[in-house]
Amino acid sequence: MGVDFKEFAQRACQSPISITIIMSEFSQLVDAVRDALIKTYPNLGSGEAFSYASNGFSLRCPHCGPFSHEVIPILYLAGAMTKHGTVIYGGPNIAALDQGRCPRCGGNMLISSFSPQSIIDHLEAEKREAFISEGISSLDLACTPIAYLGNINISPNEDLVCFTEPNGSVVSYDSGTDQLRWSINVPSATIRLLRFVSPERVLVLSEKQENQILIQLVNTIDGSVLAESIWPNKIYGYADSDPLTGLFVVEISYDNLLIINTANDKLELSTYKCGQIYLPGPKIGPDGKLYFIEHFQLYCVEGNQQRSLASADHCICFRGTTVYCGGGHSDRSGKSALHIGDLNSSIFHEIPWGNEPINEIAIAGDDRLLIANNVSEVHIGRYPNAVVTLFSIASQKKEWSLTIGDLKPWRTVILVSVPAEGWALIQTGKFLKRISLKDGKPMNVLPKQMQEVVTANWLSSRNLLYVARCLDQNKPGLLECYRI
Ligand SMILES: [Zn+2]
Repeated sequence: MGVDFKEFAQRACQSPISITIIMSEFSQLVDAVRDALIKTYPNLGSGEAFSYASNGFSLRCPHCGPFSHEVIPILYLAGAMTKHGTVIYGGPNIAALDQGRCPRCGGNMLISSFSPQSIIDHLEAEKREAFISEGISSLDLACTPIAYLGNINISPNEDLVCFTEPNGSVVSYDSGTDQLRWSINVPSATIRLLRFVSPERVLVLSEKQENQILIQLVNTIDGSVLAESIWPNKIYGYADSDPLTGLFVVEISYDNLLIINTANDKLELSTYKCGQIYLPGPKIGPDGKLYFIEHFQLYCVEGNQQRSLASADHCICFRGTTVYCGGGHSDRSGKSALHIGDLNSSIFHEIPWGNEPINEIAIAGDDRLLIANNVSEVHIGRYPNAVVTLFSIASQKKEWSLTIGDLKPWRTVILVSVPAEGWALIQTGKFLKRISLKDGKPMNVLPKQMQEVVTANWLSSRNLLYVARCLDQNKPGLLECYRI
């Protein structure tokens, strides 16, 4: 203990370097490099810095030669766990590594080489981004930006924009203006959800006290509350609503859904128990049925039974009676695929997508999809790029791809896709870009901060683009409205 790897770590931030250490000290070495990376590159979060630190190493036994990359997390955990007196379970190789020994020769020395190349590439991508976007025009604001906290939802006829203000009230503005229509106070600033359930009704779920959610059905003409109910437990953030049927669904635990039927201005609550729900949470299909992904399978709820449709992961994107889902893993273990199915016939097929995960799918034309992967905080050190691709389904061809090298983990890449007008809004680390669906070239750019969490909505009947940006998750921000 008490080994000082500071000097090594500082030099490792700039250029490749090697050191021979006692194997059990490896976790201290990684922590030292992580801390030095954070100091050298203040834009890095600690999770990202840890990923760059651990993934930048290649390890060798002085006698037996190179270790595989999989050894890194095992050795790191062994060191970190020893401090807490925990034992790692696994095969004989893992047991040896856990004791700080080479599984082949039993030696306890480790040659640790670090290359800062991936973090340097990441910074180059940031600089390149700034350069590429020079001289491209901005967008015109339709009205003064409004203070914003979260939960933007647009009325089905696009005349109203509802959201939560930083002080916690739920507000409604006439779209394209900074004219407040109404404002209602809710019991706490912790607004959990806000969704239109019919053209003139919005459902508001807010936390009254711990494990007690107030459900209010609000008339959007004047902000009056038409019905109220209490859900005496937790809810999660993943939800969907259908303004045609008045149905609302939200996750209340990892394997339970709360369904609220708001038809005829009543609040009828029921629950549905399923298996563990994966991203993107529950969705209501164009047929009014509930869909969700549970353990790599897409399910549809019919009556009170769920029916497995196909393999799927990460996202559910409907187009008429067709559904598209993603696949793959952020550590690139296993194959990825685009899953395509017909809701009427339940016939599905898949298009192989290598090992790159598909996390986001948006409609980008009659036969076109916009497809993107997200950047994972855990794996950014090894897989730092988000890639957005325009894909032709019929010819199974990638028409173009854009690599985004500076995006923060878990940020949405595709913010809006407007195939009718041939453009989409995507985000990089430093910019929001309105790009042409034809060739991916930027038409307009808006600067943004790396940390910002951005959502966008397109109001096609009014040619308005809403951009909601917050400094970070659940932090206050601004709602901007642009006229296109
Ligand atoms: Zn060895």
